[in-house]
Amino acid sequence: MNREYFPILNEKVYGKPLVYLDNAATTQKPVSVINALSDYYLRINSNIHRGVHCLSQLATNEFEQTRETVRQYIHAGSTQEVIFTRGATESINLVASSFGNTYLHEGDEVIVSEMEHHSNIVPWQLACEHHGAKLRVLPFNDKGELIVSDLEQLITDRTKIVAVAHVSNSLGTVNPIEDIIRIAHSHNVPVLIDGAQAVAHCPVNVQALDCDFYCFSGHKMYAPMGIGVMYGKEHWLNEMQPYQGGGEMIKDVTFDKTTYNELPFKFEAGTPSVGDVIGLRKAIEYIQNIGLEKIAAHEQALLNYTTEKLAAIEGIRFIGEAAHKTGVISFLVGDIHPYDLGVLLDNQGVAVRTGHHCTQPVMTHFNIPGTVRASFALYNTFEEADMLTSAVVKAKQMLS
Ligand code: PLP
Repeated sequence: MNREYFPILNEKVYGKPLVYLDNAATTQKPVSVINALSDYYLRINSNIHRGVHCLSQLATNEFEQTRETVRQYIHAGSTQEVIFTRGATESINLVASSFGNTYLHEGDEVIVSEMEHHSNIVPWQLACEHHGAKLRVLPFNDKGELIVSDLEQLITDRTKIVAVAHVSNSLGTVNPIEDIIRIAHSHNVPVLIDGAQAVAHCPVNVQALDCDFYCFSGHKMYAPMGIGVMYGKEHWLNEMQPYQGGGEMIKDVTFDKTTYNELPFKFEAGTPSVGDVIGLRKAIEYIQNIGLEKIAAHEQALLNYTTEKLAAIEGIRFIGEAAHKTGVISFLVGDIHPYDLGVLLDNQGVAVRTGHHCTQPVMTHFNIPGTVRASFALYNTFEEADMLTSAVVKAKQMLS
């Protein structure tokens, strides 16, 4: 689908056609996004918001238009709830720090799940350490599905927030976040959703979900690196302390006291990555032109096809067999180390990721050092799925 818009897919590695299956780490960029970056620097590069001159106003318009595009894409109620960050990691750190500073006290509790990316564990550990709070963990079963029924017991009157992934980056599981949000809210506990692996693969409606925070990165959805989004419900953002201090986030500064800017600027200290923000808009428009439903259906077909093909390989073991998955396949073959398998796949032009995928607790759960992970994007093909399968077969023969 639409491969001609991604020039990098024509590259050869070691003289072989590139089969790029590392999309959960980062996606490739369509020409419209690449052109938007050079166009920005060629025509309108300028600092935003504070300038009276023409270029500054043009850049500001483009920047703020992107905020509206993001708002529509995730169905937020207001652009005031859309905060630009450097990525999902910074978005979660922002919430853990600002929400933590405002609401976390000694003896309080934060719940994360066992399948979280380190980006949705460590910021909460830091916040808990800082405030004397405790981290509690919602487990998953051996298929890689969260045991949501445990949540009722985990939530106590000290629980201040639940933070959970929409989609697991190492298992591919799509979590029942509607149920998690409903249960947490019935105890008046807010919920942060890490949407890094979801926003490019399924429609997201933050108002219908009723989540309190939703965090994601641009570079996993065909946009440039260095740009991300933190959606937060307005009432939380109004109450929360700012994350960083500096220009843009203030209304008035004296040496005695500083008052803060209104939303969303209160959480956007300093000069943002304007070109990358504009690139994010082009990426969203690109996705919208194709249609998320169509993309999701294609990736689902690839997932089913590839899983079936790989399953025929003797000794293969899938890590993550949830009933509801996106296009992420984690696997091991016999006792071959995932790193060795990954290197031999790379030699054949097949780019996959190996290791713990920043989810060490997942690897601990299965008592494995890591996995080989193939992950799909809209431009992957069934031929590439076949090339992956034959590359695994060949690598297995070489290593046996
Ligand atoms: N959350 C999940 C589920 C991820 O897969 C990732 C990256 O792989 C992140 C968070 C962190 O994203 P970033 O490194 O773009 O900030």
